[in-house]
Amino acid sequence: MSTLGPVISSGAELIATTLKNQGVEVLFGIVGIPVVEVAEACVAAGIRFIGFRNEQSAAYAASIYGYLSGRPGVCLSVGGPGVVHALAGLLNSKINCWPIVLLSGSCDTDQVDTGAFQELDQVEVCRPYCKYAARPASLEQVPFVIEKAFRTALYGRPGAAYVDLPADFIQYPIRNKQVLDSIQASKVPSAPKSMANPSDLNEAVALLKNAKSPLIVVGKGAAYARAEKEILQLVEKTGSPFLPTPMGKGVLPDSHPLCVSAARSKALKEADVVLLIGARLNWILHFGHSPRWNSTVRFIQIDIAPEEIGNNRNDTLPLLGDIQLVVSQLTQSLEKLNNISSGYVTGLVSKVKANAEKIRQSGLKGSDEAVLNYQTAFTTIKNILPEKDIVYVSEGANTMDIGRSFFDVSEPRQRLDAGTGATMGVGMGYAIGAQCYYPTKRVVSIVGDSAFGFSAMELETAIRSQLPLLIIVINNNGIYHGLDDDEYEASRISGTLPTTSLSPETRYDMISEACGGKGWLVKNRVQLGNALKDALAAKDQTCVINVMIAPGGRTKLDFAWMQNEKKAKL
Ligand code: ADP
Ligand code: MG
Repeated sequence: MSTLGPVISSGAELIATTLKNQGVEVLFGIVGIPVVEVAEACVAAGIRFIGFRNEQSAAYAASIYGYLSGRPGVCLSVGGPGVVHALAGLLNSKINCWPIVLLSGSCDTDQVDTGAFQELDQVEVCRPYCKYAARPASLEQVPFVIEKAFRTALYGRPGAAYVDLPADFIQYPIRNKQVLDSIQASKVPSAPKSMANPSDLNEAVALLKNAKSPLIVVGKGAAYARAEKEILQLVEKTGSPFLPTPMGKGVLPDSHPLCVSAARSKALKEADVVLLIGARLNWILHFGHSPRWNSTVRFIQIDIAPEEIGNNRNDTLPLLGDIQLVVSQLTQSLEKLNNISSGYVTGLVSKVKANAEKIRQSGLKGSDEAVLNYQTAFTTIKNILPEKDIVYVSEGANTMDIGRSFFDVSEPRQRLDAGTGATMGVGMGYAIGAQCYYPTKRVVSIVGDSAFGFSAMELETAIRSQLPLLIIVINNNGIYHGLDDDEYEASRISGTLPTTSLSPETRYDMISEACGGKGWLVKNRVQLGNALKDALAAKDQTCVINVMIAPGGRTKLDFAWMQNEKKAKL
């Protein structure tokens, strides 16, 4: 008999209690030695565990959960290869500025450098992607290090944090309740917020008041900051047109009369004063340079990260602070902007109408039995999907780019795509993460066949976890474009198969059925419509609709504004 007293807890339970104290509701990951006990303790503590098939998707799920919930998404993995797979999610969170914490098992502390099971210097491996990466020095330090990881991921510009969990800490038998209680860390409070410098604010107000063609750009930082109410007030009070970035869509409804998404190129060219709200002057906004932007444009940038402001344009006027607060400061100091040139807003609005009509027309082409293309498939889908309570996930180069203008979004944080990293393969992780966050909405993933293939096995995860995802694979047999059966066979025999080719008519729908979900293969408008109605009615089931479209892929886009955009990317 030990004189130390009975074992009352374990390191694994201590970790679970710490996560529970941090408000964690869902844990995404894959178990294995030495983290099975951690996952089991978390489940016993009332945390939902979603067990994936590859850590990459688990980390993507945690990444999007961080964006949606405004608290760090949490991923649990084994060491070594598990960590390397999960790095994808850390990078994705870093690049998109979302909070995430990765917790991974590692070898016993007295086995470091001995060639232990799955041994890797994980703290160093994760460090380049993280704001904070640490191995607790002792079991007593674990709650503090986890609290610090949560705080660092969340405060300032959100990002990634890593905590190493040595196997001997996880398994440690705890006998002393007093010590156990005394080391617990309390929940990280919401991030502190600050307002902009008053003199910068005055300068911004003066610039906006004098603007002849102002433009407000609403980015995903504004969506993350939950600043929809404040931004709507600013737009309505000033009368300035606004343009959402791809994931800024929905912060204000796309149907708002001042939304100029469908006249994007014209708006960029004409704007003389641009207010960036949680959006960076990176590739998505053409670095803020001409010819896409007017050469004399002035940028005002609201951001929480001072080092971001001035990136690519060091003449940018900074409004450093939290978007909710800074936008309110601006709204208080501004009235209706009455220097706006006559014709600027009406010109944009009429361009929006004309382009919207072109898009509408493009979706009506062809007979009901005709082979589908992106436009006709999207139009069919859009006309059937309900307007409310849908969360869109979108990836795949053409599927995402062309789809963006077909699906209007009316609420913030309801459209998730490949983001700043243009990361293909996020779709299944995002859909699973989003369905966990929004249990009463239907997550509809509209994805390319190549993008879906990155993590199609996560269908089993969704089905086992009873997540009724609706996945629509826009299948053109390839990356960007593919070949039809005959062309494919001829190229295969002659050894000239393009690197962009995937097998023709792969039955993605049957992967769903094989895992216990539902699946449909559809080839025209009528079949697509029927399958979609059935899938919407199957409210509790994971569904895959495999939509064969013309493999020639990029059917010629007949609206010039989109073509110009593609050309400018060359
Ligand atoms: P998009 O891709 O939509 O252009 P980005 O991810 O490039 O958006 O930019 C988002 C920006 O928002 C980042 O620079 C980030 O620092 C900033 N941001 C995030 N949260 C806040 C906040 N609460 N207040 C101010 N800025 C924020
Ligand atoms: Mg494809």
